[in-house]
Order: sequence, then C-alpha cells, then structure tokens
Amino acid sequence: MKRSTAGNSNKWGMYDREQESTGFRKRFKERPPPELRGKAIGLWYAARNKARRYGNSTERDKEMRAKRQASLDRQILGTIQLSETKKQKILQYLDETASTSTEIDNFYNDLKGLEFEHNFLNHINGNIYDKLKRYTQELRDNDEQLDTLYYDEFVKKKNDPNYTEMLKFRHNLPAMKMKTKIVDLINQNQVVVISGETGCGKTTQVAQFILDDWVEKKRGSLCKVICTQPRRISAISVAERVASERAESLGQSVGYQIRLEKHLPRQKASILFCTTGILLKYMESDPTLQQVSHLVLDEIHERDVISDFLITVLRDVIKYRKDLKVILMSATINSEAFSKYYGNAPHLNIPGFTYPVKEYFLEDVLQMTKFSFQKSAKKIFRKDQDFEKSRTEYIEPYIRQLKAENKYGMFVINELLKPQSESLNMHLIYSLLEHICLKDKDDGAILVFVPGFSDIQDLCKMARNSGKFPPHSFIIIPIHSQLSSIDQRQIFNPAPKGKRKIIISTNIAETSITIDDVTTVINCGFIKYKTLDLEMGCESLKPHLVSQANANQRRGRAGRVKPGVCYHLLIRARYEILDKFMQPEVLRERLEDVVLQLKLLQLGEAESFLANLMDPPDKKSVHMSVTLLHRLGALDTNENLTPLGYHMSRLPVGAQPAKMLILGSLFSCLDPILSVAASLGFKDAFQLSMDSTSADHAKLELADGCKSDHLLMHFAVRGYEESTNGYAFCRKYYLSENTLSLIKSMRQQFADMLCDMNFIENHSPRAASHNRNSQNLSLVKAIICAGLYPNIFIIKKHYLLRSVMHEPMKFHPKSILSKETHFESKLGVYHTRLMTQGIQVHDATLVHSWPLAFFGDDFHEGIDNHHHFVVISKKIRFKCSKSTANVVKLMRERLNEILNFMVTHPGPINWDQNTSDNKILSAIIELITSQDMDHLDLSDFDDSN
Ligand code: ADP
Ligand code: MG
Repeated sequence: MKRSTAGNSNKWGMYDREQESTGFRKRFKERPPPELRGKAIGLWYAARNKARRYGNSTERDKEMRAKRQASLDRQILGTIQLSETKKQKILQYLDETASTSTEIDNFYNDLKGLEFEHNFLNHINGNIYDKLKRYTQELRDNDEQLDTLYYDEFVKKKNDPNYTEMLKFRHNLPAMKMKTKIVDLINQNQVVVISGETGCGKTTQVAQFILDDWVEKKRGSLCKVICTQPRRISAISVAERVASERAESLGQSVGYQIRLEKHLPRQKASILFCTTGILLKYMESDPTLQQVSHLVLDEIHERDVISDFLITVLRDVIKYRKDLKVILMSATINSEAFSKYYGNAPHLNIPGFTYPVKEYFLEDVLQMTKFSFQKSAKKIFRKDQDFEKSRTEYIEPYIRQLKAENKYGMFVINELLKPQSESLNMHLIYSLLEHICLKDKDDGAILVFVPGFSDIQDLCKMARNSGKFPPHSFIIIPIHSQLSSIDQRQIFNPAPKGKRKIIISTNIAETSITIDDVTTVINCGFIKYKTLDLEMGCESLKPHLVSQANANQRRGRAGRVKPGVCYHLLIRARYEILDKFMQPEVLRERLEDVVLQLKLLQLGEAESFLANLMDPPDKKSVHMSVTLLHRLGALDTNENLTPLGYHMSRLPVGAQPAKMLILGSLFSCLDPILSVAASLGFKDAFQLSMDSTSADHAKLELADGCKSDHLLMHFAVRGYEESTNGYAFCRKYYLSENTLSLIKSMRQQFADMLCDMNFIENHSPRAASHNRNSQNLSLVKAIICAGLYPNIFIIKKHYLLRSVMHEPMKFHPKSILSKETHFESKLGVYHTRLMTQGIQVHDATLVHSWPLAFFGDDFHEGIDNHHHFVVISKKIRFKCSKSTANVVKLMRERLNEILNFMVTHPGPINWDQNTSDNKILSAIIELITSQDMDHLDLSDFDDSN
C-alpha cells in the first residue's frame, strides 16, 4: 500500500469522506419527535443509537471492511533482495543441475527396490479391510504344560499371606461382589459394557477376574488381556497396584507400556495396562490384534479423541475377529450410549458406595451470606441467545415461584433477578468461603473449583488481603496442572491439628487428583475448556457452564470419608437444565492428528470414516484439517498420504512439529529442533508462578534477546542438559524438572525413530553428523518457520497483531514477545493460538522474508503501480524485482525437488561433497542467515496501517 502523503494518515482508507461527513451532519440534526415526554425521549435515543450501531450501516460496514482488507493485502511486509553477483552465481548452480533434475522428475518410479517403496506404496494403496479379511481364524491350541504351570502358581498364591491380606481389602470393593456376574457376562458375549462409580473397583479388578477365570479353567495360555488407560500416569499406577494385589512384582502376570516407558508382562496369561496411543501403535502393524484375547477399554466416558476413534475402529475389527472379547468400561455417566453404539451390547452397572452429600444452590448461598451483586462484577460470563432464552423460559419463572413460596427473603429474590447473578463472581466465592470458615467449626478440608489460573490467583489474593485466613489456622493450596509439583504434594497430607486445608483447583481435582479428607466442596458452576470455532477456524479456551456430569462429580468429592456438603453457585433451575454431559473432545478440537492416524491405519477417506463416530465431527472441521494437511504437504489432492505425510504420521507428535523434525534432520540442525518439537508436542516446561514478575524476568534472561519462544524452549533444554545441578537450574528459571526430563526422553525417542527411518545415521540427538548447522540460530528459526507454516502473524503496531485472514490477535502474556518493544520484522510464526479475551498467540518466533519465500506455499509474482512483488499464501507480499523473483522461483522449484527426493530416499546427506544440490542448499542457508544477521532495513516498512 502506498504511504499516505499527509502526516495524519486517513483511518478510513479509500472511503469517501465527503459523504460520511454529510451523513453525520444530517443525523446529528435528528431530534426526537416533539410529542415525546420524559422517559420516552430516553428510549428514543437508545433506539436510535442501537440502530446506528447495528442497523442500516451493516452492509456499508461490510463493504468498508472488505476494502480495508484488500488494501492491507497489498501491504508490503518485507523485501526479497539479491545482489547481481549472487543472482548470477545461483543461476549458474541451477544450470549445473538442469541435466540431472529430469532423473528425479518421476521419483515414484525411482522408488523401485527400496525398502521405503515397500512400506510406502503399500500404504497409499491398501486398506484395512483387506488386511482384516485376510485374517483367518487360526485354531488356537492351548499349551497344556503352561496351563498347568499357571494353574499351580495360582493355587499356591491363595496361601501367600501378602495375597490374602490384599484379598481382604478387595472383598470390600463393590466390583468383587459382582465377580461371577461380570465373568459370566463376558464369557457369554463378545462385547459388554461395565459401568460404576469411581472407586468401585472396575480398573483394578475386572482384568484380574478375567485372567483368574481362565487360569482356573486351565486355559491360561490362551489368555492375554490388554487394558487401555487415557493417561500415562494411570497406566503405571494401576499396573503397580494390580501387581501388588496379586503379590507379585511387575513383569510377571502384570505389566504396563506407555510411550517412552515399559515394563512388559509375560507373553501369555497376563494383563498389560497401556495407553490408548500404544494400542493404536499395535494396530498399525496388526489391526487384528492376533495376540490379544480380551481388550478392556477403560474410562471411555471421558470421550477423548483417541478413545472415540478406537471404539469406532474396533466395531469393524470384531466382525473379523469373532474370538476377541471387548469390554467397555465407564463411569456411570452415559454408559447406555456405548451399549447402543455396539448394537445394544449387554450392560452391567456396579452399584457403588459413597457418603451422602448435602447440596446447596445459589439461592441458599445468598440467604446464608447476604451477598449482594454489584453492577460491575469483574468477570461477566458472555451470554448467548440460548442463555437469554433459557433465562426467560425457565429461570425467571422459577424465581417467581420461589417468591410465591416465600421460602427465601425478598433480598434473595431481588439478587437472583439481577442478570449478573448468573456470572462467575469471585467475590461471591470468597464471601461463601469466609462464611464457611468462620461460621462452622468442622475442620474437614474445603475444595473450591474455579475455571482457570487467574481465578485461583484472584481468590488467593482476596483471602490473603482480607487477613481473615491467617497461616496459623489455614493452609491455602492452589492446584493447577502447570503449577510446580512441590506445592502440590501438600495436597495429600492431612492438615496439622488446628489448621484447616483450603484447596483451590481447576477441574483437575474432579477426577485426576483425589483428595480424601475433603468434606466441603464449592462448585463455582463454570469450567474452562477448549472449543473449536468453525467460522473463525480458531480454538478457544473460555469458561463455560459445567455439565451435570461435572457438577455431580464435583459433589462426589465431598463424600469420600464421611457425609459432606456441596455448594453449587448456580440457581437450582439452572442446574436442572445444564447439559447432561460435556461435549466429546472430537467435536471441540482440531482433527489433523486423527486424520493422519486414520490414514496410517488405512481407514479410507477421512470424512466418511469420521461420520461413523459416536458423535461425528462437523464436516467443516474435517475439511479444515484435511486442507491444512494438504497445505503441509502431508496429503495429496486425492487425500492420500504423500511420502512426507507418511513419515509425519509415524512420528508420535502433531503434524507441524513432525514436519519440523524431518526438515531439521535434512538441514542438519536437529538438536534444537528436537527440543522444540518435543515441547510443542508435550507441554510447556515453564511453570506458572504465583509471582509472575520474577518468573518473567527469569524467562527473559534465559531468552537472551532471541525473540523466539521456540528458541527459548531449546535454551531451556540445553541449559538443563548441560548444567551440573539440574534442580537448581530449574528453580532459577521456573522450569519443571519432571517435564524437562520427559522432553529429554522424547528427544531420544524422536532421534531413534528418525534414525530408523534413515534420516540420520546415529541415535544420538547431539551427534555432530546431524548438527552441522545447529549453531546457526537463523537457520533454526527458518526451520521452525517451515514447520509451523501457515500459522503466520503480522505485526500491525506495537503489540497488535493480525492473522493472514485479518483476525485481530495479540501475544499471550506468557510469550516473551509480549515483553518486546522492538520488532525487526513484521512477520512471525506460532504454533498455538487460542481465543480467550480476543485471539492470543501463545508461542511465537519472529521471522524474516527469506524463510517464508522458500517454505511458504502458493508463490506468485505480480506488479502493482510499477512495483514488482512476490506473494505467498495469497496475502503475504514482499517487494522483489522481476529478475530476483525469477531466481527465487527457480530456487523454490529446485528446493522442492531436493526435499522430495530426500523424503523418498531417506539417507544422510553428505555435506562435504561439492554437488549442485549442496551448493543450492548452502546458498539458501546463506541467504536466510545473512538477512537475519543484518536485521532488515526498517525504512522499507509502511506503518500507515
Ligand atoms: P474404579 O476403576 O472403579 O474407579 P479402581 O479399581 O481404580 O476403581 O479402585 C478401586 C479401589 O482400589 C479404590 O477405591 C482405592 O481404594 C483402591 N486403589 C486403587 N488404586 C490404588 C492405589 N494405587 N493405591 C491404593 N489403593 C488403590
Ligand atoms: Mg477406573
């Protein structure tokens, strides 16, 4: 866009100012009709203002916005420059290769005889149903000798005091009382659904029932149970628990396998606890699961994407494997739906036992606390149309009914009628907490559920500032998955005598963490979770009303040791119309990873397969993910895996980090990229701190001015690995040692896999052979950019960003770029953006134009007002002369050929050879590096927008 010549830039761009000012004058003259009096005049102004805001002007607004966006799309965002000598040199390199490039043109032909060909071509051609059909029911013979061995071992166990001691405990579990029923039902049906309250003994008992039954019948050699868990941590702890109940150590009849860690049980007559992800890996090589006799899918009510996906795949598998037993286990919620999905499979519910919990609702709490809602409640829950409708249809009639019944004071009725009574209000929570602590003398722990970290901080601050919760009488413990685990250990210890424990937590304490001594629960009524906005194509993370299932689970937390109390900060009528369950994850999250998985399992076209899910995702959402995978080069136009996509789908990390890993090995800068990919695929090693200022300082110190959250991840891992005292290093920089050591293992796992794929020649993440360029941080940033593309942000002014599609965005406070004042480039890439208060970019790396010119898609040249430019992604424009554009175009073509050849012929590159490929790659690296080092001349930038 041309710089406006006048000093004050015209905010309305091309818009006709003359017309606007006349319109304004005319409206300004408008007066209310003279017959109106008093309040009616006020109403007239209100109506007019509303019409101005939303009324007739919308069409014109749209038009204006389109014009403004079109002009932004013409904005020059950087420069692509080549000196004349450099151009000539590169053209010469390109010429040298002209003769050889034809050999690579048809690289699929060239694959013949390679191991890769066998695997890859098999993959794009086959489908899972052929494999399943080929499975012939082998008549399995049992091994009599082994059967007797296992039988004798089991009989002997019954006299082992360790075993009998545990058995006493097990006999009190509700599941044990139903043992015969459970075993019979499983023996008589291929699929059964078992439900029961948390703690009734599903996870620890059911697999043992099956195994013991087969061993006692002297058929142990034919029994192999796999039990899946949604989380790594539960797979290990359950395996340990079950082994100790059987008076064994891990590795005999019980074992576990999770990503990066395993302790396998014996082959036969055994139970393996593993994550859902591991089961998928097994199915990739053997979809019929030949070695398995019983498959127990646990905690399926959580409705995470992989569980939902597995349930669907298995529906097909059991048609061919008639001897495979499938046991679906869930909490009581919604278990009928699973039975229905499997053609009304028999369903058995285990009645559980918990102490009664008395429930109070908002009206009761207002009566107790005399709390009054102020007009300016800090956090207002954004209400939508459905909410307004339910307010008039259910809530208001309910309040009128309360009034008629006269059970609550008029004060309460008036407060309920205020619309802000249904918003999240931290002052109300605080007021109730004070009421509970000061009025009742019980010393049981109090568990407060709030939506997010900032709410935890607010409540802690209020309690501290009030002086009413002195440390000698109260221990206040915040729980959040990203808070350091040292603080969290206090959670489980009972409070010292005379002190009362107050735990302030997100929904993590609903199921993942169990605190036994809780007797009082405060349910704020809200929960934070991700949803996918299909119009914007953006995920958002915001507080939503809880579902009844969440509310009941929260209530249950108060009755584990004795009768308890639960306060729901919701009007009772609102509680009654809450959704029954939370939406399954597959309807709320992006689907790239699932699509890659289903391609790897050869399940056919994404849309038609995903339509079979229990709750099929929106077609738009599938389409969005397929399109992104196509842009990343993972799928071709027929939605088949490309060679690159085939490699990507096999790496246990999201699509974009996977691509980054492959490019990192090809460009020989793997070490930093391993850290970045592991962090992005797992979680942030930086912890939240109640003292955010010093945490921010520490981060900036470690970042050393690099303007990249991703390089910062690399610095954190490298610093940790190189420090002599890892613990002290982590303390200093607010890092989680636990997360870092897992990231370290993931780096090793990625390196092992890349080595198996033949991209690198040895397993060491830091070996010199694949780290020739790791010191070149400019190149590392370019590879990060290539991996994260097309997630681009454009810096508008100061801290304001926009996406390529013109959505306004800003940096999340945890990104180090949010503290930056000077930006050498207008462009950057990110991995995660979430809608919270506006769209926030959580992690960012500033990049210059060359990396985008090489790795961006949809490259075109153009001319505007006699100025030549190139554009990528349809909207990102760089100033570039015609002759330079031509050279860049040729270089891009050549780079594509080289990369395509590399992914189809994986093998380490010999950088020492003076081949034309190497010359081109070196030229690319040199351009990227020198631009990043020089820091672009800012006079090229047009800041008028
Ligand atoms: P469910 O799967 O039905 O929720 P579990 O089988 O996990 O129940 O647990 C049953 C009971 O076994 C629990 O109530 C608890 O008392 C006990 N239990 C489970 N895991 C452990 C463990 N790791 N350590 C001690 N006790 C445990
Ligand atoms: Mg369980």
